Amino acid sequence: MAEKIKYPWGHNRRFNTYSDYFKQRFGGRIQKLSIDAGFTCPNRDGSKGRGGCSFCNNNAFSPSYCQPVKSIGKQIEEGIEFHKKRYPRTRGYLGYFQSYSNTYESIEVLRSRYEEALSHPEITGLVIGTRPDTVNEEILDYIASIAKHHYVIIEYGLESCYNSTLERVNRGHTFEESQRAIEMTAARGIRQGAHFIIGLPGESEPEILAQAEIISELPIQNVKFHQLQIVKNTNMAREYEADPGSFHLFNLEEYLELMASFIEQLNPGFVIERIAGEVNQGYLLGDSWGLRYDKVLEKFENLLANKDTWQGKEFRKSG
Ligand code: SF4
Repeated sequence: MAEKIKYPWGHNRRFNTYSDYFKQRFGGRIQKLSIDAGFTCPNRDGSKGRGGCSFCNNNAFSPSYCQPVKSIGKQIEEGIEFHKKRYPRTRGYLGYFQSYSNTYESIEVLRSRYEEALSHPEITGLVIGTRPDTVNEEILDYIASIAKHHYVIIEYGLESCYNSTLERVNRGHTFEESQRAIEMTAARGIRQGAHFIIGLPGESEPEILAQAEIISELPIQNVKFHQLQIVKNTNMAREYEADPGSFHLFNLEEYLELMASFIEQLNPGFVIERIAGEVNQGYLLGDSWGLRYDKVLEKFENLLANKDTWQGKEFRKSG
């Protein structure tokens, strides 16, 4: 009988899943609660650009309880009520500052918004989603001080390792700026994750796969991947309608094959938060895969088993 492989993440799934990481760390299910704290983003207010990243429509992924007209406390209350019905055994909640750039404000404003979330008795920590060009020494020092007493992770939107892609999607920052923010964050011992969109226009499959090696060298702990989806009312939707041939939207089977090869090369030390995204069909241009994320994940794990592969199987640490 073949010997069972012992994965470095300590459970027997073929990649280091977010849910298992939380079970190991907190002893049970932890739920993120999306918060829209009313921030904006430098790629929308004109300081970096206007019109935003070409793929961006924040409404497409914000749950209904999450609206900036409501106080942070109220959004948390409604979020807990919503999730308690679906997952009654949840052990704790993280305030997920998700919409726009959640470090793009003065330190006083950030302090009041983060502390409002942390003052809720059921909130055990924060997830702060932001752009890498909206952090500085002062903000990171402050976040490091919160992280001494709470679970805190900064989730940077990197989207791609290629400057040509970042330019094409009007991202308004370079990969070097992302690396700088990540190094500054790592220097303070703050947990951090990076978000990538797989299949941005102009990237070939070999170029997508080559990013696994670049990402693996970053001093981060978490990664999150979304397949490219064209969301209505975005600049990308207009580009797509004008020239659909310059895009490749992966079907589910193609995408899972690609991601199986991708995670084979990925640092086994990373927690993989997601391998794909979900956008409501109503927001999408074109067809969705028609499967909930748990079913996509099930198919992915079956594929990994059939191929007898796993996260980091082909990872080679450089240097
Ligand atoms: S994706 Fe983020 S950085 Fe880009 S426009 Fe939207 S909110 Fe701003």
